[in-house]
Amino acid sequence: MFKGRPLMRCCLLISGIVLLLGVLQFIFRPVPFGVISSCFRPSNPHPGIEPVLTQQAVPSPIATTTPGKSKKLTRRPVNQDLAFPQGLHYEQPHLLKPWRGDVLTVTSWLAPIVWEGTFDPVIIDSIYKPQNLTIATTVFAVGKYTRFLRDFLESAEKHYMVDFKVHYYVFTDQPTEVPSVNLAPGRELHVIPVPKFNRWQEISLRRMEIIQTTIEERIHKEADYIYCLDVDMKFHNRWGPEVLGSLVGAIHPWFYDFDRVHFTYERRPSSKAYIPKDQGDFYYMGCVFGGLVEEVHKLTKKCREHLEVDKSIGVEAAWQEESHLNWYFLYNKPTKLLSPEYLWDDLKGGTPREIRAVRFSSVIKNKAEVRENV
Ligand code: UDP
Ligand code: MN
Repeated sequence: MFKGRPLMRCCLLISGIVLLLGVLQFIFRPVPFGVISSCFRPSNPHPGIEPVLTQQAVPSPIATTTPGKSKKLTRRPVNQDLAFPQGLHYEQPHLLKPWRGDVLTVTSWLAPIVWEGTFDPVIIDSIYKPQNLTIATTVFAVGKYTRFLRDFLESAEKHYMVDFKVHYYVFTDQPTEVPSVNLAPGRELHVIPVPKFNRWQEISLRRMEIIQTTIEERIHKEADYIYCLDVDMKFHNRWGPEVLGSLVGAIHPWFYDFDRVHFTYERRPSSKAYIPKDQGDFYYMGCVFGGLVEEVHKLTKKCREHLEVDKSIGVEAAWQEESHLNWYFLYNKPTKLLSPEYLWDDLKGGTPREIRAVRFSSVIKNKAEVRENV
């Protein structure tokens, strides 16, 4: 039909290719936010699940994103109503009788500070248990730190978010060293391989990046809240849904009665973690932070960006990611704070009067022996 009209044939060929490319682009276009949000986990993804230890190795999430370019997460519909069952009897609160007279229980920005005595576990449980929440819990065990996993997991099964769906994400360079621990119904353990870094400081530093990436890869679909914990720790008492909040930090057990000038914040203005001497609320510990998945994603993304900027100019903050976490919490105030009951240190020995329960505590370790480069 177009014999003898090479120009026409050429035009038709080009328009055919353009049309084909258009169709292909339509089919393989990036998923829009609406679709990401619709693939969010429904409220109960594991009905009637049996006690299970799923140790599924997935490819390392490392280096799948660059600092400024993370996937945007759509807000999950997390039930945050404080609906309360009828007919439950409990102690009446009295405005003129504070639960605790000896410690600060609310910050100057009106965030609660959680201490024994400030909450009724029965009330808290009856509010949060019906919400059918899943709590992601990240823990790193690289190099010799795999030895801490058994005590961490076994004690967590006794005290940590009991009766809640907990998904542990264990990041390790030695998946075969992850112990088999009996998990209660609805609780799962996922092993995620990560490379071994040469310096312990590097392991500590990369946690923000790896958590950020794993939230983007899967946790935003799998959980409502996320708590990021150190592994060289053990639970001793209830660590329950009273910790749930949008953005949650834990007050360091060694510095809680210090003046802010003595906090071990990063003090060099060249670092992104810099905090001037006359600023700061509390000194938060890097061993515990958490909150809604979306909020922790923002936190890890910002800290990771700041860590990368520091690295590019050869600066490492005084206490690595803990310094950046403290910067973040100064300018993005946590909505709930955990008292040092939630993050004690066995090295402190006995507990002072204000600590009525040690719930979670760092075990004593020989740093020179467990760390790679000391
Ligand atoms: N970590 C690890 N392997 C290492 C060093 C650190 O897995 O060789 C992880 C582990 O989860 C540990 C956390 O990084 O709990 C923080 O390090 P560490 O506990 O040594 O710091 P500290 O609490 O003593 O400041
Ligand atoms: Mn630790």
